[in-house]
Amino acid sequence: MHGLVALLGPAKVLGTHDDLLLYEYDGAVDTATPDAVVLPESTADVSALARFCHEHAVPIVPRGAGTGLSGGAIPVEGGVVVSFARMARILEIDVPNLRAVVQPGVINLHLSTAVAPHGLYFVPDPSSQKACTLGGNVAENSGGPHTLAYGVTTNHVTGIEIVLSDGTVVRLGGKAAEDEGYDLVGTFVGSEGTLGLVTEITVKLTPLPEDKRTLMAAFPTMDEASETVSAIIAAGIVPSAIEMMDQLAAQAVEAAVHAGYPLDAGGILLVEVDGPRDGLDEARARIEAICRQHAASEVRVATSALERERLWAGRKGAFAAMGRLSPDYYVQDGVIPRTRLPDILRLVKDAGARHRLRVANVFHAGDGNLHPLILFDSRLGPDELERAKAAGLEILTACVEAGGSITGEHGVGMEKNCYMPLQFQSSDLAAMRRVKDALDPPGLMNPGKIFPTPSRCREFAFASTTR
Ligand SMILES: Cc1cc2nc3c(=O)[nH]c(=O)nc-3n(C[C@H](O)[C@H](O)[C@H](O)COP(=O)(O)OP(=O)(O)OC[C@H]3O[C@@H](n4cnc5c(N)ncnc54)[C@H](O)[C@@H]3O)c2cc1C
Repeated sequence: MHGLVALLGPAKVLGTHDDLLLYEYDGAVDTATPDAVVLPESTADVSALARFCHEHAVPIVPRGAGTGLSGGAIPVEGGVVVSFARMARILEIDVPNLRAVVQPGVINLHLSTAVAPHGLYFVPDPSSQKACTLGGNVAENSGGPHTLAYGVTTNHVTGIEIVLSDGTVVRLGGKAAEDEGYDLVGTFVGSEGTLGLVTEITVKLTPLPEDKRTLMAAFPTMDEASETVSAIIAAGIVPSAIEMMDQLAAQAVEAAVHAGYPLDAGGILLVEVDGPRDGLDEARARIEAICRQHAASEVRVATSALERERLWAGRKGAFAAMGRLSPDYYVQDGVIPRTRLPDILRLVKDAGARHRLRVANVFHAGDGNLHPLILFDSRLGPDELERAKAAGLEILTACVEAGGSITGEHGVGMEKNCYMPLQFQSSDLAAMRRVKDALDPPGLMNPGKIFPTPSRCREFAFASTTR
């Protein structure tokens, strides 16, 4: 602590008990208290900090806004949490080249707001976009409702500046769309802070679509809503977004946001198409017809920007609205081939019932990216979270068995590292570990994340076996 203050000055270091408590949790369910928190203001500060930690063998845990849903920013092995809250400037908006250069602490929505006067936006739009940072988006390779047609964060980042664990500053990529050599930008995007600290990001900007059509369709059951998702894609239409929620989620949303969702529907779809105005009404009509063929009881098309925003406010506020139903939730992030939606949603329901917990579903249906929100009440004792975790493991196991994955966008973090062997053979994990060892030889960058650790994963028999 004294060494950090001597290095960076007292204004950039937090160490009191109360201050540290604020950094012991994120959007997920696990907690751990850091030994110190550092608030760098420049790449030079970050590099000096990394050199210091390297010399003293102290773990470094990067943190953006702490909205992560897999415990990525939690210092599970102690050490220094590096908050990028003060590195939050948009450094350049390059309209002719459709690029922006930003510091990692810039909030996702602030970038789109800043470039909107130029008719541009940053495509990846996590539902947390009012709070989450671009550094966090890069680290998690975040998606969002509108990444179905336009791709996730990795498709929108062309360059990054990184500080490695020994303090070396490395610049990878730039403004060009393609770079020669190894795709190290791609390697860092999604590496969850385990390879280095991202200190600058060059992103693609995209022209705002000329127009949009947004539909809300209500179905008697989730089966019919799920079948509609596959039918829309099979008809050759690729909407910019297809989001789904069940009745429990819609009830929470209506109590909190008043988005105008029907309370009696078994399943609700929010579908959006955008692009050149010509053809949008035809796509909207075809989607509407497909919804009706699949027993939609109501299809409502937003007739104004305000109505569209209201429909989206419901979806984007859905996780927060869970507070109306339960004091705690444990969100899963499994991916499945979208044609398997009906079976897996049934299994999700059964897993909840088996563990005596309610489960609400709000998710990126077009991507087959499930987000079962397992509701529990930690005030009733530790058993509640244990049962939620057991139900979560059953759901993720089923996703992998269905040909999917344990995470679509929230990352592995410290929440799913023990589950990695469900999806990867030990040789796959060993190859990933060699990349980690090459770039972070002392293992100080966000330790205890992504890879199964003997101390935490002992209880999962599959974590130490080869598939
Ligand atoms: C209500 C809600 C809705 C959400 N919806 C979505 C969604 O639709 N799509 C989606 O993908 N995610 C979603 N998320 C998850 C989360 O918002 C994203 O993962 C987001 O990118 C995290 O950003 P953050 O700034 O909060 O990062 P943090 O939570 O602070 O950190 C996340 C990870 O990034 C690392 N990190 C942060 N900054 C840096 C840096 N500068 N250099 C290196 N590593 C760094 C951390 O160590 C950690 O591993 C949602 C979360 C909530 C709470």
